[in-house]
Amino acid sequence: LFDSVELAPRDPILGLNEQYNADTRPGKVNLGVGVYYDDQGRIPLLGAVRKAETARIEAAAARGYLPIEGIAGYNAGAQALLLGKDSALAAAGRVLTTQALGGTGALKIGADFLRQLLPTSKVLISNPSWENHRALFERAGFEVGTYAYYDAATRGLDFDAMLADLKAAPAKTVVVLHACCHNPTGVDPTMDQWKQIAAVVKENNLVPFLDIAYQGFGDGLTEDAAVVRLFADLDLTMFISSSFSKSFSLYGERVGALTVVAGSKDEATRVLSQLKRVIRTNYSNPPTHGGTVVSTVLNSPELFAMWEEELAGMRDRIRLMRKQLVEKIQEHGGKQDFSFVLRQRGMFSYSGLTAAQVDRLREEHGVYAVSSGRICVAALNSGNIDKVAAGIAAVL
Ligand code: PMP
Repeated sequence: LFDSVELAPRDPILGLNEQYNADTRPGKVNLGVGVYYDDQGRIPLLGAVRKAETARIEAAAARGYLPIEGIAGYNAGAQALLLGKDSALAAAGRVLTTQALGGTGALKIGADFLRQLLPTSKVLISNPSWENHRALFERAGFEVGTYAYYDAATRGLDFDAMLADLKAAPAKTVVVLHACCHNPTGVDPTMDQWKQIAAVVKENNLVPFLDIAYQGFGDGLTEDAAVVRLFADLDLTMFISSSFSKSFSLYGERVGALTVVAGSKDEATRVLSQLKRVIRTNYSNPPTHGGTVVSTVLNSPELFAMWEEELAGMRDRIRLMRKQLVEKIQEHGGKQDFSFVLRQRGMFSYSGLTAAQVDRLREEHGVYAVSSGRICVAALNSGNIDKVAAGIAAVL
């Protein structure tokens, strides 16, 4: 039966983890993963999460099936984080949200539904993008192309080329946009640039799929939703995949959501019914635990405030690490200006290191980064930053 089955290529980032785990050198540092670690190098369990979990265990609630679209309070909470509590679109019944298996699950449900709806459309992702975007949309049956994004020369955005590519896309092209904290580059358009992007999306009748996996890691929960709200204000119909994996530090609980803004209440009802079919035939309904915990936090003013403060703590620590990295690379005699790291946002930085420099960093210094030069700034801490900075300065 399996004679003709080929060995699939290893996931590049998970492959890096395996290499890291097998490394016996003390003081090795893994900057390859997309996970937030605290200053002690641990994945935090947030206080708000712990409280919600304790309450859940004490309640000893039964674990029946959830509705296909998940927990109502979870969906309402996720939607309010994106569009605001007083969204006119939500009040008009034009917005629907379903609980999803992480941001990945939200993208997948959306992609499968879109493929039925737009069988001849292409999907465009940024160049570069989160590596799963291409695979996921191709698996759903789409041809996937890219729009220009990162400019290695300026270590910033190639905005003119990006806009030109979007202008050249035919109507109904699905455009995946990182609504904040771009993965892998850390480079985001300015608000003024976003206005121009949104205008092209509207004028060309493109289908925006906003992916927001790091809400709260840029400037704050509300601030980081600005792009979503800009698109909503322009009355654009759109897909939004959101994730609580990072913001709640609940990676393994698979807590995400798919939100769709439809043209009318009736459209929203029909779209939801189709999304429920996609879910039902894939995994029937979402799991209870993570969703209940997140829903409890989102719907309790006390726990919400606690969560927001903890999220701000994570954001501030990442900023501090960015600042220290730039300073320490200089202190260690690094010959290049690294101040672009301060302009990048979220958990990642495209460091500009070449694949050869990344190899040397790993082999000579025990510091692991992705071969593209992407480093996870959220994995730096006061105990490893000197070693990382010295290593980078040495390989530059
Ligand atoms: N989109 C982007 C841009 C991401 O970086 C990630 C996570 N690395 C996801 C989606 C998926 O998030 P989750 O882990 O919640 O599935």
